[in-house]
Amino acid sequence: MNRTLHVAIIGSGPSGFYAAEELLTQKEIKITVNMFDRLPTPFGLVRGGVAPDHQKIKTVAKVYDKTASREGFRFFGNVEFGRDILIEDLKKNYDAVIIAVGAKSDRKMGIPGEDLTGSYPATIFVGWYNGHPDYQSLTFDLSHERVAVIGVGNVAVDVTRILAQDPKSLETTDIAGYALEALRKSNVKEVYLIGRRGVAQAAFTDFEIRELCHLPGCDLVVDPKDVELDELSKEDLNAGKGGIVAKNNVQVLTEQSKLGRGSQPKKIILKFLLSPVELAGENGRVSSVKFEKNVLYRDKDGSIRPKGTGQYEVLPAGLVFRSVGYKGQPLTGVPYDERKGTVPNELGRVIDPLTKKQVDGLYVVGWAKRGPTGVIGTNKPDSIETVKKLLEDFQGRNDSAARNPDAILELLKARGVRFVSYPEWKKLDEIETESGKKKGKSREKFSNIPDMLSAIGR
Ligand code: NAP
Repeated sequence: MNRTLHVAIIGSGPSGFYAAEELLTQKEIKITVNMFDRLPTPFGLVRGGVAPDHQKIKTVAKVYDKTASREGFRFFGNVEFGRDILIEDLKKNYDAVIIAVGAKSDRKMGIPGEDLTGSYPATIFVGWYNGHPDYQSLTFDLSHERVAVIGVGNVAVDVTRILAQDPKSLETTDIAGYALEALRKSNVKEVYLIGRRGVAQAAFTDFEIRELCHLPGCDLVVDPKDVELDELSKEDLNAGKGGIVAKNNVQVLTEQSKLGRGSQPKKIILKFLLSPVELAGENGRVSSVKFEKNVLYRDKDGSIRPKGTGQYEVLPAGLVFRSVGYKGQPLTGVPYDERKGTVPNELGRVIDPLTKKQVDGLYVVGWAKRGPTGVIGTNKPDSIETVKKLLEDFQGRNDSAARNPDAILELLKARGVRFVSYPEWKKLDEIETESGKKKGKSREKFSNIPDMLSAIGR
């Protein structure tokens, strides 16, 4: 292309920023990036998902800051795609649009009682303790002694850790002030963390499970029977399936199972081979979870799956978090695969599900592309792959008329949309860091949008 290529990116989480970095560091072609986010603040799950006691992981935002300082980058926070700007607006004013919206919603278990009061998706609890504007007004009744967390992925581990550790160890973090207060008053003594398959199939990673073994004020309790390996799991581990993480998980938890119940005031009780089948309640509030005991079998595709035995057990619990995965939501004017919760694509090129043809100028990265898997770093090669395809598509394409991203400024103004620029975000960042310092915290977050806008003078 013999002119500047203008790209819009929807979403400012890790996948969006890695795509921006790859675009803005091209040597052969001049590229501009306009990044839109529905929140006034950037960084997606790095700000609203990563647990507050994992501050080191959050320092990855410095890398995104560097991208934001590159020539050709502009941020439009507080602009919601599908409401404030539409796909047609973007197609008119940019050569290409990259969808980087992640997976906003969560998967359901599909069992009776799931929507009783006191039963919630773990994802909204995560948003709540992280001060996400969508969830800051929620309240969770932490007066119950026992909580059940269903699913054994890293989100389930995050939620369990936040509920079970001594809140003192969260005091210096960027946890939302209201969440810290609620956790200080919490009456939770036992958190059950429950997987439907066995220890060798757990989705959490070894670093995260080791952390649970050393939490201040809390013991991780594992029944030795729960970490006894069946023949299929042994076969897979010996064949290297699940990699070093599965092997380490089994080893760490086998050691932990020898320690009994410990002496700390709070307990995390890890259980396997139990599938939730029903949540029961009293007066509309959840009071227990019924589980069916499972055995493992090998499926046609070679994976190890759980199978019900017809034996049941009931766990009384006043609060239940389902942590069975995130799920993407459809966006107006963008193809959507309902089953996977993703944007249908081939290596990041969006595909029309009806014609099976590439949708011209539309691309996707991150969880919206591949589903909610992997850690933050997984998004880097994923975004680079998409950008490569985008650049291939525009190579030698000199015929198209020049686009005018500046028209977006007029359009937003005409629609009364007050967007937040990157320098304005930096101002918010500074205010948050300063007010955190006064309390000995790494940051005191703004958790509602009107407060953010008034702090930058609106
Ligand atoms: P995940 O890793 O996919 O784990 C989902 C868990 O839910 C699995 O244990 C799964 O069991 C279980 N599950 C699914 N359907 C179920 C059902 N109907 N009944 C009972 N259990 C069910 O998802 P996630 O924890 O939401 O994490 C999403 C991604 O973010 C992952 O890649 C994760 O590693 C990453 N993440 C990383 C960190 C970190 O690095 N510290 C923190 C948070 C999240 P099966 O395996 O049997 O399906």
